[in-house]
Amino acid sequence: MNSLYHSTRGGDQKTTASRAILAGLASDGGLYVPDSIPSFDLPLTALADMDYRAVAFEVMSRFLTDYTEEELRDCIDHAYDDKFDTKEIAHLHEAGDAFYLELFHGKTIAFKDMALSILPYLMTTAAKKNNIREKIVILTATSGDTGKAAMAGFADVPGTEIIVFYPKDGVSPVQERMMVTQKGDNTHVVAIRGNFDDAQTGVKKIFGDGKMAADLRKAGCRFSSANSINIGRLVPQIAYYFYAYANLLKRGKIQAGDPVNVTVPTGNFGNILAAHYAKKMGLPVGRLICASNSNNVLTDFFRTGVYDRNRDFFLTSSPSMDILVSSNLERLICESAGGDVKTTAALMKSLRETGKYEITDAMRRNMDDFYGGYADEDQVFEEIRRVYRESHYVIDPHTAVASAVYHNYVKETGDGTVTVIASTASPYKFARNVLAALDPKYGNFSDDEQFDALAEVSGVAIPAAIRELRAAKVRHNTVVDIAGMEQSVREILHL
Ligand SMILES: *Cc1c(COP(=O)(O)O)cnc(C)c1O
Repeated sequence: MNSLYHSTRGGDQKTTASRAILAGLASDGGLYVPDSIPSFDLPLTALADMDYRAVAFEVMSRFLTDYTEEELRDCIDHAYDDKFDTKEIAHLHEAGDAFYLELFHGKTIAFKDMALSILPYLMTTAAKKNNIREKIVILTATSGDTGKAAMAGFADVPGTEIIVFYPKDGVSPVQERMMVTQKGDNTHVVAIRGNFDDAQTGVKKIFGDGKMAADLRKAGCRFSSANSINIGRLVPQIAYYFYAYANLLKRGKIQAGDPVNVTVPTGNFGNILAAHYAKKMGLPVGRLICASNSNNVLTDFFRTGVYDRNRDFFLTSSPSMDILVSSNLERLICESAGGDVKTTAALMKSLRETGKYEITDAMRRNMDDFYGGYADEDQVFEEIRRVYRESHYVIDPHTAVASAVYHNYVKETGDGTVTVIASTASPYKFARNVLAALDPKYGNFSDDEQFDALAEVSGVAIPAAIRELRAAKVRHNTVVDIAGMEQSVREILHL
Protein backbone atom coordinates (compact mmCIF):
# COMPACT_ATOMS: atom_id res chain seq x y z
CA MET A 1 0.00 0.00 0.00
CA ASN A 2 1.22 3.48 -0.81
CA SER A 3 2.07 5.94 1.96
CA LEU A 4 0.23 9.15 1.30
CA TYR A 5 1.14 12.71 2.11
CA HIS A 6 -1.04 15.63 3.17
CA SER A 7 -0.52 19.31 3.85
CA THR A 8 0.16 20.48 7.42
CA ARG A 9 -2.58 23.06 6.84
CA GLY A 10 -5.17 20.63 5.58
CA GLY A 11 -5.96 22.42 2.35
CA ASP A 12 -4.92 19.85 -0.25
CA GLN A 13 -5.95 16.37 -1.30
CA LYS A 14 -3.79 13.54 -0.09
CA THR A 15 -1.10 12.75 -2.61
CA THR A 16 1.64 10.26 -3.40
CA ALA A 17 5.31 10.75 -2.51
CA SER A 18 6.30 11.42 -6.11
CA ARG A 19 3.61 14.09 -6.51
CA ALA A 20 4.53 15.70 -3.21
CA ILE A 21 8.16 15.87 -4.37
CA LEU A 22 7.11 17.49 -7.66
CA ALA A 23 4.94 20.06 -5.91
CA GLY A 24 7.48 21.02 -3.22
CA LEU A 25 5.07 23.13 -1.21
CA ALA A 26 1.36 22.32 -0.86
CA SER A 27 -0.93 24.81 -2.61
CA ASP A 28 -2.33 26.08 0.72
CA GLY A 29 1.19 27.11 1.75
CA GLY A 30 1.56 24.12 4.06
CA LEU A 31 4.24 21.43 4.02
CA TYR A 32 3.65 17.84 2.98
CA VAL A 33 3.86 15.29 5.79
CA PRO A 34 3.32 11.53 5.62
CA ASP A 35 -0.05 10.33 6.97
CA SER A 36 2.01 8.21 9.33
CA ILE A 37 5.75 7.76 9.83
CA PRO A 38 6.65 4.25 8.65
CA SER A 39 8.38 1.99 11.12
CA PHE A 40 11.73 0.48 10.30
CA ASP A 41 11.17 -3.25 10.23
CA LEU A 42 14.73 -4.56 9.75
CA PRO A 43 16.96 -5.40 12.74
CA LEU A 44 19.52 -2.60 13.18
CA THR A 45 22.34 -5.14 13.26
CA ALA A 46 21.49 -5.92 9.62
CA LEU A 47 22.57 -2.40 8.70
CA ALA A 48 26.05 -2.71 10.17
CA ASP A 49 27.42 -4.45 7.08
CA MET A 50 25.62 -2.33 4.49
CA ASP A 51 27.23 0.45 2.51
CA TYR A 52 25.68 3.92 2.37
CA ARG A 53 23.59 3.21 -0.72
CA ALA A 54 22.08 0.07 0.75
CA VAL A 55 21.16 1.86 3.99
CA ALA A 56 19.71 4.76 2.01
CA PHE A 57 17.55 2.34 0.04
CA GLU A 58 16.24 0.60 3.16
CA VAL A 59 15.28 3.93 4.75
CA MET A 60 13.98 5.82 1.73
CA SER A 61 11.92 2.95 0.34
CA ARG A 62 9.78 3.03 3.51
CA PHE A 63 8.69 6.58 2.64
CA LEU A 64 8.74 6.76 -1.15
CA THR A 65 6.43 3.83 -1.67
CA ASP A 66 5.20 4.74 -5.13
CA TYR A 67 8.72 4.52 -6.59
CA THR A 68 9.60 1.04 -7.80
CA GLU A 69 12.65 -0.62 -6.29
CA GLU A 70 14.44 -0.22 -9.61
CA GLU A 71 13.61 3.48 -9.85
CA LEU A 72 14.73 4.22 -6.31
CA ARG A 73 17.95 2.21 -6.54
CA ASP A 74 18.70 3.99 -9.81
CA CYS A 75 18.26 7.42 -8.15
CA ILE A 76 20.46 6.37 -5.22
CA ASP A 77 23.19 4.96 -7.46
CA HIS A 78 23.33 8.16 -9.51
CA ALA A 79 23.42 10.36 -6.43
CA TYR A 80 25.88 8.67 -4.09
CA ASP A 81 28.73 7.90 -6.45
CA ASP A 82 32.23 9.28 -6.90
CA LYS A 83 30.91 12.86 -6.70
CA PHE A 84 31.65 12.23 -3.03
CA ASP A 85 35.30 12.21 -2.10
CA THR A 86 34.92 9.34 0.36
CA LYS A 87 33.51 5.89 -0.35
CA GLU A 88 31.72 6.03 2.98
CA ILE A 89 29.72 9.07 1.70
CA ALA A 90 29.21 10.15 5.33
CA HIS A 91 32.30 9.58 7.48
CA LEU A 92 31.98 9.35 11.27
CA HIS A 93 34.99 10.97 12.96
CA GLU A 94 35.66 10.41 16.66
CA ALA A 95 37.17 13.42 18.44
CA GLY A 96 37.18 13.90 22.21
CA ASP A 97 33.93 12.68 23.71
CA ALA A 98 31.81 12.93 20.54
CA PHE A 99 31.40 11.53 17.05
CA TYR A 100 31.31 14.06 14.24
CA LEU A 101 29.22 12.84 11.32
CA GLU A 102 30.91 14.48 8.34
CA LEU A 103 28.15 15.31 5.88
CA PHE A 104 30.34 17.50 3.70
CA HIS A 105 32.08 15.11 1.32
CA GLY A 106 29.92 15.99 -1.69
CA LYS A 107 30.40 18.42 -4.56
CA THR A 108 29.81 21.65 -2.65
CA ILE A 109 31.41 20.55 0.62
CA ALA A 110 28.34 21.11 2.81
CA PHE A 111 25.62 18.79 4.06
CA LYS A 112 23.05 20.05 1.53
CA ASP A 113 24.75 17.74 -0.96
CA MET A 114 23.41 14.73 0.93
CA ALA A 115 19.88 15.52 -0.23
CA LEU A 116 20.47 17.68 -3.29
CA SER A 117 22.57 15.05 -5.03
CA ILE A 118 19.50 12.86 -5.19
CA LEU A 119 16.62 15.35 -5.47
CA PRO A 120 17.01 16.00 -9.24
CA TYR A 121 16.76 12.25 -9.87
CA LEU A 122 13.78 11.85 -7.56
CA MET A 123 12.12 14.76 -9.32
CA THR A 124 12.74 13.79 -12.93
CA THR A 125 11.72 10.21 -12.10
CA ALA A 126 8.54 11.60 -10.50
CA ALA A 127 7.77 13.65 -13.62
CA LYS A 128 8.15 10.59 -15.82
CA LYS A 129 5.99 8.43 -13.54
CA ASN A 130 3.22 11.01 -13.52
CA ASN A 131 3.36 11.77 -17.27
CA ILE A 132 4.28 15.37 -16.67
CA ARG A 133 5.77 17.04 -19.72
CA GLU A 134 6.09 20.62 -18.47
CA LYS A 135 9.49 22.02 -17.75
CA ILE A 136 10.22 21.93 -14.00
CA VAL A 137 11.38 25.31 -12.71
CA ILE A 138 13.18 25.08 -9.38
CA LEU A 139 12.78 28.27 -7.40
CA THR A 140 14.98 28.45 -4.34
CA ALA A 141 15.99 30.84 -1.59
CA THR A 142 19.36 30.11 -0.05
CA SER A 143 21.28 31.15 3.02
CA GLY A 144 24.40 30.11 1.13
CA ASP A 145 24.69 26.35 0.82
CA THR A 146 21.37 25.16 -0.61
CA GLY A 147 21.62 27.35 -3.70
CA LYS A 148 24.97 26.04 -4.78
CA ALA A 149 24.18 22.43 -3.94
CA ALA A 150 20.87 22.64 -5.82
CA MET A 151 22.50 24.14 -8.89
CA ALA A 152 25.24 21.54 -8.81
CA GLY A 153 22.52 18.89 -8.71
CA PHE A 154 20.27 20.37 -11.40
CA ALA A 155 22.86 21.88 -13.79
CA ASP A 156 22.08 20.73 -17.33
CA VAL A 157 19.47 18.19 -16.17
CA PRO A 158 17.09 18.07 -19.19
CA GLY A 159 13.60 19.43 -18.60
CA THR A 160 14.63 21.61 -15.65
CA GLU A 161 15.49 25.24 -15.01
CA ILE A 162 16.79 26.54 -11.68
CA ILE A 163 16.61 30.05 -10.20
CA VAL A 164 18.41 30.81 -6.93
CA PHE A 165 17.99 33.90 -4.74
CA TYR A 166 20.55 34.70 -2.06
CA PRO A 167 21.05 37.63 0.37
CA LYS A 168 23.77 39.82 -1.14
CA ASP A 169 25.58 40.48 2.14
CA GLY A 170 24.48 37.36 3.98
CA VAL A 171 26.74 34.63 2.62
CA SER A 172 30.46 33.92 2.98
CA PRO A 173 32.85 35.00 0.19
CA VAL A 174 33.51 31.38 -0.72
CA GLN A 175 29.78 30.61 -0.80
CA GLU A 176 29.13 33.60 -3.05
CA ARG A 177 31.97 32.77 -5.37
CA MET A 178 30.81 29.18 -5.65
CA MET A 179 27.35 30.38 -6.70
CA VAL A 180 28.25 33.13 -9.15
CA THR A 181 30.62 30.83 -11.02
CA GLN A 182 28.02 28.08 -11.44
CA LYS A 183 28.00 26.53 -14.90
CA GLY A 184 24.99 25.16 -16.80
CA ASP A 185 22.67 26.92 -19.27
CA ASN A 186 19.67 26.22 -17.04
CA THR A 187 21.13 27.84 -13.90
CA HIS A 188 20.30 31.40 -12.77
CA VAL A 189 21.55 33.22 -9.68
CA VAL A 190 20.07 36.46 -8.34
CA ALA A 191 21.38 38.38 -5.30
CA ILE A 192 18.79 40.35 -3.34
CA ARG A 193 19.22 43.43 -1.16
CA GLY A 194 17.77 41.81 1.95
CA ASN A 195 18.39 38.88 4.29
CA PHE A 196 17.62 35.18 3.94
CA ASP A 197 14.15 35.48 5.45
CA ASP A 198 13.32 38.16 2.85
CA ALA A 199 14.50 35.82 0.11
CA GLN A 200 12.49 32.91 1.50
CA THR A 201 9.34 35.02 1.98
CA GLY A 202 9.71 36.39 -1.57
CA VAL A 203 10.00 32.88 -3.02
CA LYS A 204 6.94 31.68 -1.09
CA LYS A 205 5.01 34.68 -2.42
CA ILE A 206 5.95 33.92 -6.01
CA PHE A 207 4.89 30.30 -5.45
CA GLY A 208 1.50 31.41 -4.17
CA ASP A 209 0.82 34.04 -6.86
CA GLY A 210 -2.16 33.02 -9.02
CA LYS A 211 -1.32 35.27 -11.99
CA MET A 212 2.22 33.94 -12.04
CA ALA A 213 0.95 30.35 -11.95
CA ALA A 214 -1.35 31.00 -14.92
CA ASP A 215 1.41 32.65 -16.98
CA LEU A 216 3.72 29.82 -16.10
CA ARG A 217 1.24 27.20 -17.30
CA LYS A 218 0.85 29.05 -20.59
CA ALA A 219 4.61 28.93 -21.03
CA GLY A 220 4.65 25.16 -20.42
CA CYS A 221 6.41 25.35 -17.06
CA ARG A 222 5.67 24.47 -13.44
CA PHE A 223 7.39 25.51 -10.24
CA SER A 224 8.95 23.19 -7.73
CA SER A 225 11.14 23.74 -4.74
CA ALA A 226 14.55 22.41 -3.81
CA ASN A 227 14.32 24.01 -0.37
CA SER A 228 14.26 21.77 2.64
CA ILE A 229 10.49 22.12 2.79
CA ASN A 230 10.43 19.59 -0.06
CA ILE A 231 9.78 16.12 1.36
CA GLY A 232 12.28 14.87 -1.26
CA ARG A 233 15.00 16.70 0.70
CA LEU A 234 13.92 15.48 4.08
CA VAL A 235 13.66 11.76 3.35
CA PRO A 236 17.24 11.26 2.04
CA GLN A 237 18.53 12.99 5.18
CA ILE A 238 16.98 10.38 7.46
CA ALA A 239 19.29 7.77 5.96
CA TYR A 240 22.53 9.11 7.42
CA TYR A 241 21.30 8.87 10.99
CA PHE A 242 20.69 5.15 10.45
CA TYR A 243 24.08 4.90 8.76
CA ALA A 244 25.82 6.62 11.69
CA TYR A 245 24.09 4.32 14.17
CA ALA A 246 25.09 1.27 12.13
CA ASN A 247 28.65 2.53 12.01
CA LEU A 248 28.76 2.90 15.82
CA LEU A 249 27.49 -0.67 16.10
CA LYS A 250 30.08 -1.93 13.67
CA ARG A 251 32.86 -0.19 15.56
CA GLY A 252 31.65 -1.66 18.85
CA LYS A 253 30.93 1.77 20.34
CA ILE A 254 27.35 0.77 21.17
CA GLN A 255 25.17 -2.36 21.41
CA ALA A 256 22.02 -2.68 19.28
CA GLY A 257 19.24 -0.85 21.08
CA ASP A 258 21.50 1.56 22.99
CA PRO A 259 20.28 5.14 22.72
CA VAL A 260 22.39 7.72 20.92
CA ASN A 261 21.96 11.48 21.29
CA VAL A 262 22.10 13.66 18.23
CA THR A 263 23.23 17.29 18.09
CA VAL A 264 22.41 19.30 14.98
CA PRO A 265 23.42 22.85 14.01
CA THR A 266 20.04 24.13 13.00
CA GLY A 267 18.69 26.72 10.60
CA ASN A 268 15.56 25.79 8.69
CA PHE A 269 15.01 22.76 10.97
CA GLY A 270 15.33 20.21 8.15
CA ASN A 271 18.34 18.26 9.32
CA ILE A 272 17.19 17.82 12.91
CA LEU A 273 13.68 16.95 11.77
CA ALA A 274 15.22 14.13 9.74
CA ALA A 275 16.84 12.85 12.96
CA HIS A 276 13.45 13.06 14.65
CA TYR A 277 11.87 11.06 11.82
CA ALA A 278 14.63 8.46 12.19
CA LYS A 279 13.67 8.21 15.85
CA LYS A 280 9.97 7.89 15.02
CA MET A 281 10.85 5.06 12.63
CA GLY A 282 12.45 3.22 15.53
CA LEU A 283 16.10 4.26 15.57
CA PRO A 284 17.15 4.44 19.25
CA VAL A 285 17.75 8.18 19.49
CA GLY A 286 17.65 9.81 22.93
CA ARG A 287 17.82 13.60 23.05
CA LEU A 288 17.64 15.74 19.94
CA ILE A 289 19.88 18.68 20.74
CA CYS A 290 18.92 21.64 18.59
CA ALA A 291 21.87 24.03 18.34
CA SER A 292 21.47 27.64 17.22
CA ASN A 293 23.86 30.53 16.79
CA SER A 294 23.05 34.05 18.10
CA ASN A 295 19.83 33.89 16.08
CA ASN A 296 18.38 31.80 18.88
CA VAL A 297 14.63 31.78 18.16
CA LEU A 298 14.54 28.00 18.47
CA THR A 299 16.36 27.95 21.82
CA ASP A 300 13.71 30.23 23.25
CA PHE A 301 10.98 28.20 21.59
CA PHE A 302 12.06 24.92 23.15
CA ARG A 303 12.47 26.59 26.54
CA THR A 304 9.22 28.56 26.62
CA GLY A 305 6.83 27.25 23.95
CA VAL A 306 6.74 30.71 22.39
CA TYR A 307 8.06 31.20 18.86
CA ASP A 308 8.85 34.87 18.37
CA ARG A 309 10.69 36.17 15.34
CA ASN A 310 10.38 39.80 16.45
CA ARG A 311 13.98 40.34 17.44
CA ASP A 312 17.30 41.57 16.10
CA PHE A 313 18.78 39.59 13.23
CA PHE A 314 22.52 38.84 13.42
CA LEU A 315 24.94 38.04 10.63
CA THR A 316 27.26 35.42 12.10
CA SER A 317 30.19 33.22 11.14
CA SER A 318 27.65 30.42 10.55
CA PRO A 319 25.53 32.14 7.86
CA SER A 320 23.59 29.01 6.88
CA MET A 321 21.95 29.22 10.30
CA ASP A 322 21.17 32.95 10.21
CA ILE A 323 17.44 32.36 10.10
CA LEU A 324 14.51 33.65 12.13
CA VAL A 325 11.76 31.56 10.51
CA SER A 326 12.59 27.85 10.53
CA SER A 327 10.13 26.52 7.96
CA ASN A 328 10.40 22.84 8.76
CA LEU A 329 9.33 23.41 12.35
CA GLU A 330 5.78 23.51 10.96
CA ARG A 331 5.98 19.75 10.48
CA LEU A 332 6.85 19.20 14.14
CA ILE A 333 4.17 21.65 15.23
CA CYS A 334 1.56 19.72 13.26
CA GLU A 335 2.74 16.41 14.68
CA SER A 336 2.83 17.67 18.27
CA ALA A 337 -0.75 18.90 17.84
CA GLY A 338 -1.70 15.28 17.10
CA GLY A 339 -1.86 16.04 13.39
CA ASP A 340 -4.43 18.80 13.90
CA VAL A 341 -4.16 20.80 10.66
CA LYS A 342 -6.54 23.55 11.82
CA THR A 343 -4.37 24.35 14.83
CA THR A 344 -1.26 24.30 12.64
CA ALA A 345 -2.82 26.62 10.06
CA ALA A 346 -3.91 29.03 12.81
CA LEU A 347 -0.43 29.13 14.40
CA MET A 348 1.21 29.75 11.02
CA LYS A 349 -1.29 32.50 10.31
CA SER A 350 -0.34 34.09 13.60
CA LEU A 351 3.34 33.81 12.65
CA ARG A 352 2.67 35.56 9.34
CA GLU A 353 0.58 38.31 10.87
CA THR A 354 2.27 38.95 14.21
CA GLY A 355 5.63 37.17 13.86
CA LYS A 356 4.74 35.09 16.86
CA TYR A 357 2.78 32.10 18.22
CA GLU A 358 2.57 30.03 21.37
CA ILE A 359 1.94 26.29 21.58
CA THR A 360 0.01 24.51 24.33
CA ASP A 361 1.59 22.60 27.23
CA ALA A 362 0.34 19.36 25.73
CA MET A 363 2.14 20.14 22.48
CA ARG A 364 5.30 21.00 24.41
CA ARG A 365 5.19 17.65 26.20
CA ASN A 366 5.05 15.94 22.81
CA MET A 367 8.42 17.43 21.91
CA ASP A 368 10.19 17.18 25.25
CA ASP A 369 12.94 15.01 23.80
CA PHE A 370 14.19 18.16 22.04
CA TYR A 371 16.68 20.34 23.88
CA GLY A 372 17.39 23.85 22.59
CA GLY A 373 20.67 25.68 23.14
CA TYR A 374 22.76 28.32 21.44
CA ALA A 375 26.34 29.51 21.17
CA ASP A 376 27.37 33.12 20.55
CA GLU A 377 30.29 34.11 18.34
CA ASP A 378 32.89 34.06 21.14
CA GLN A 379 31.85 30.56 22.16
CA VAL A 380 31.95 29.36 18.55
CA PHE A 381 35.49 30.62 18.01
CA GLU A 382 36.61 29.21 21.36
CA GLU A 383 35.11 25.84 20.44
CA ILE A 384 37.02 25.72 17.14
CA ARG A 385 40.21 26.38 19.15
CA ARG A 386 39.37 23.86 21.87
CA VAL A 387 38.58 20.99 19.50
CA TYR A 388 41.78 21.68 17.57
CA ARG A 389 43.86 21.95 20.72
CA GLU A 390 42.48 18.77 22.29
CA SER A 391 41.88 16.56 19.24
CA HIS A 392 43.83 18.11 16.38
CA TYR A 393 40.57 18.22 14.41
CA VAL A 394 39.48 21.34 12.53
CA ILE A 395 35.73 22.03 12.45
CA ASP A 396 33.78 24.72 10.62
CA PRO A 397 31.75 27.40 12.48
CA HIS A 398 28.39 25.63 11.95
CA THR A 399 29.73 22.41 13.39
CA ALA A 400 31.34 24.45 16.17
CA VAL A 401 27.93 25.86 17.14
CA ALA A 402 26.69 22.30 17.58
CA SER A 403 29.83 21.18 19.37
CA ALA A 404 29.70 24.10 21.83
CA VAL A 405 26.00 23.59 22.56
CA TYR A 406 26.59 19.87 23.07
CA HIS A 407 29.27 20.56 25.66
CA ASN A 408 27.03 23.06 27.45
CA TYR A 409 24.32 20.41 27.44
CA VAL A 410 26.62 17.83 29.02
CA LYS A 411 27.70 20.34 31.68
CA GLU A 412 24.10 21.19 32.43
CA THR A 413 22.68 17.66 32.50
CA GLY A 414 25.59 15.26 33.10
CA ASP A 415 24.13 13.12 30.30
CA GLY A 416 26.92 10.80 29.11
CA THR A 417 25.01 9.12 26.27
CA VAL A 418 27.07 8.46 23.13
CA THR A 419 26.54 11.48 20.89
CA VAL A 420 26.63 12.12 17.17
CA ILE A 421 27.22 15.73 16.16
CA ALA A 422 26.15 16.57 12.62
CA SER A 423 29.15 18.17 10.96
CA THR A 424 27.55 20.19 8.23
CA ALA A 425 30.34 21.95 6.36
CA SER A 426 33.97 21.53 5.49
CA PRO A 427 36.20 24.06 7.28
CA TYR A 428 37.43 25.03 3.81
CA LYS A 429 34.08 26.58 3.03
CA PHE A 430 34.59 29.01 5.92
CA ALA A 431 38.38 29.10 5.92
CA ARG A 432 38.71 32.76 6.89
CA ASN A 433 36.71 32.44 10.11
CA VAL A 434 38.16 29.08 11.01
CA LEU A 435 41.71 30.37 10.71
CA ALA A 436 40.82 33.59 12.52
CA ALA A 437 39.64 31.43 15.40
CA LEU A 438 42.84 29.39 15.41
CA ASP A 439 45.32 32.26 15.21
CA PRO A 440 44.97 35.98 14.39
CA LYS A 441 48.20 35.80 12.38
CA TYR A 442 46.23 34.41 9.40
CA GLY A 443 44.16 37.60 9.20
CA ASN A 444 46.17 39.24 6.42
CA PHE A 445 46.66 36.09 4.33
CA SER A 446 45.09 36.10 0.85
CA ASP A 447 42.34 33.54 0.10
CA ASP A 448 44.77 31.19 -1.60
CA GLU A 449 47.29 31.46 1.21
CA GLN A 450 44.52 30.68 3.67
CA PHE A 451 43.56 27.47 1.87
CA ASP A 452 47.18 26.38 1.88
CA ALA A 453 47.47 27.25 5.56
CA LEU A 454 44.34 25.27 6.37
CA ALA A 455 45.73 22.25 4.53
CA GLU A 456 48.84 22.44 6.64
CA VAL A 457 47.04 22.99 9.95
CA SER A 458 44.35 20.34 9.42
CA GLY A 459 46.30 17.72 7.53
CA VAL A 460 43.28 17.46 5.18
CA ALA A 461 43.98 18.08 1.49
CA ILE A 462 42.25 21.01 -0.25
CA PRO A 463 38.96 19.63 -1.65
CA ALA A 464 38.19 19.73 -5.38
CA ALA A 465 35.39 22.29 -4.86
CA ILE A 466 37.98 24.81 -3.62
CA ARG A 467 40.67 23.92 -6.14
CA GLU A 468 38.22 24.47 -9.02
CA LEU A 469 37.14 27.81 -7.60
CA ARG A 470 40.57 29.29 -8.05
CA ALA A 471 40.23 29.29 -11.84
CA ALA A 472 36.45 29.66 -12.25
CA LYS A 473 34.85 32.53 -14.22
CA VAL A 474 32.01 34.68 -12.82
CA ARG A 475 28.85 33.93 -14.82
CA HIS A 476 26.10 35.57 -12.74
CA ASN A 477 25.97 39.15 -11.47
CA THR A 478 22.31 40.24 -11.09
CA VAL A 479 21.36 42.12 -7.91
CA VAL A 480 17.74 43.19 -7.24
CA ASP A 481 15.61 44.70 -4.46
CA ILE A 482 13.21 42.41 -2.59
CA ALA A 483 10.35 43.94 -4.56
CA GLY A 484 12.09 43.02 -7.82
CA MET A 485 12.21 39.26 -7.25
CA GLU A 486 9.02 38.48 -9.16
CA GLN A 487 10.09 40.58 -12.13
CA SER A 488 13.44 38.83 -12.33
CA VAL A 489 11.70 35.45 -12.44
CA ARG A 490 9.52 36.73 -15.29
CA GLU A 491 12.56 37.94 -17.20
CA ILE A 492 14.48 34.70 -16.76
CA LEU A 493 11.52 32.62 -17.93
CA HIS A 494 10.42 35.10 -20.62
CA LEU A 495 6.90 35.37 -19.13
C1 LIG B 1 21.73 24.44 5.83
C2 LIG B 1 22.81 24.31 6.80
C3 LIG B 1 22.55 24.18 8.17
C4 LIG B 1 21.14 24.19 8.72
O1 LIG B 1 20.42 23.04 8.36
P1 LIG B 1 18.82 23.05 8.42
O2 LIG B 1 18.42 21.74 7.86
O3 LIG B 1 18.37 24.20 7.59
O4 LIG B 1 18.45 23.22 9.85
C5 LIG B 1 23.62 24.02 9.03
N1 LIG B 1 24.89 24.05 8.58
C6 LIG B 1 25.18 24.19 7.27
C7 LIG B 1 26.60 24.22 6.85
C8 LIG B 1 24.16 24.31 6.34
O5 LIG B 1 24.46 24.44 5.04
